[in-house]
Amino acid sequence: MPEMHPDSQHIIEENREFTMFSWSVQNQANPIHMTGGKGSHFFDGSGNAWLDMASQLVSINVGHQHPKILQAIKDQVDTMCFAGPGFATDVRAELGRKLSEVTGLAKSFFTLGGSEANENAMKMARLYTGRPKIITRYRSYHGATMGSMTASGDPRRWPVEPGVPGIVRVFDPYMYRPPLGMTAEQWEEGCISHIEEVIQMEGPHTIAAIMVEGITGSNGVLVPPDSYYPRLRALCDKYSILLITDEVMSGFGRTGTWLATQHYGIKPDIVTCAKGLTSGYMPLGAVIVNDKIADYFETHFLAGGLTYSGHPVSLAAAIANIKVYEEENIFEHVRELGVHLGQRLEAMKRKFACVGDVRYIGLFSVLELVKDKATKEPLAPFNGTSPEMGKLAAHLKSKHIYAMLRFNWAFVCPPLVITKEELDHGLDMYEEALALVDQMILGPVAA
Ligand code: PMP
Repeated sequence: MPEMHPDSQHIIEENREFTMFSWSVQNQANPIHMTGGKGSHFFDGSGNAWLDMASQLVSINVGHQHPKILQAIKDQVDTMCFAGPGFATDVRAELGRKLSEVTGLAKSFFTLGGSEANENAMKMARLYTGRPKIITRYRSYHGATMGSMTASGDPRRWPVEPGVPGIVRVFDPYMYRPPLGMTAEQWEEGCISHIEEVIQMEGPHTIAAIMVEGITGSNGVLVPPDSYYPRLRALCDKYSILLITDEVMSGFGRTGTWLATQHYGIKPDIVTCAKGLTSGYMPLGAVIVNDKIADYFETHFLAGGLTYSGHPVSLAAAIANIKVYEEENIFEHVRELGVHLGQRLEAMKRKFACVGDVRYIGLFSVLELVKDKATKEPLAPFNGTSPEMGKLAAHLKSKHIYAMLRFNWAFVCPPLVITKEELDHGLDMYEEALALVDQMILGPVAA
């Protein structure tokens, strides 16, 4: 249970004095001093328990401090803490076999996280096809290393521009805001033919792969229409282009399946994953490839790998984490609770003037906030914030609800083990915050 830390403020000050925080202007970083956690909650140095409605960075799927994973890590540390990347290990065999089983693909290449998985997926696609370019989407995030950051379409790529060469971007299945002034119906039809036109203009023989998030995560949980993936798969096949799905955020139970694409009945050629692979307990990512790509590298050099690739303690954590998913029927829980979450989000859309759209699948969801439902004017500008979003953040923080907020989006991505009561409490607090936002945009009387 949470306890007061005797020197919490000093710890925060030393963190800020001697370390740098990611994605921050350093003098604006305002970290919570985290001291522990249990299940859906984590604790801070002032003795508060926070409900983690963001699963940290959408990663701690089985919740904080799951005893079975802690034990597996301890056991592996006692047996063999480290083996170099060229060695065969028990855990490597076991996890590789399991990942082939759950994805239906052939072989896994282990990495330290999601960015590096995407780097290697792009590199493998270029080596295998002999083609130079990768198509990605504008509203995407694929990581913070040079190649993955360039591949990302969202503003986080801007600081490294022009980045690595050969990335071509297309528009997204964002049905609430279709591009080019189209209606949602027109865009459902147009979103794939648009990609085909880009392929033709670029030269199909120059495109190695199309890389898309299984379901777009930090750019607004863009659940595609049912027709999207079958048509994208067919398009890739038509031009012999590989389909890479980045399941770093959407995979491993977040949507109630191993991979988000399993909802749509298609199989990618390459899958990348991280986060929910170990539930964040140890750093690990994977590139999982189909049999043709695996066969190719039987006789061709795979140029890549780091000192810590396939770290045994990370692999042991992943094996234990996957066992927890299976033994505790976590995915069924996600699918069931996801229905309830969807109903509550739909009710919030009806109730609050500021909720323009809600999108959800499993326990992966977002409220898209607007100043005006008719015009869809966002509550904060693209790549910016606003007093209204500030109010929402401050209210949730005051209630010790940890939420992921970005631009005009409020995400709801709790640990997959969250109970219905915990989820309802969290959503009640979101409702309180949305009522305050409604007061700001409508005035106190109308709200
Ligand atoms: N791809 C997606 C879809 C992600 O959400 C993230 C992380 N938020 C990454 C890649 C990068 O993963 P990592 O931070 O483990 O490098």
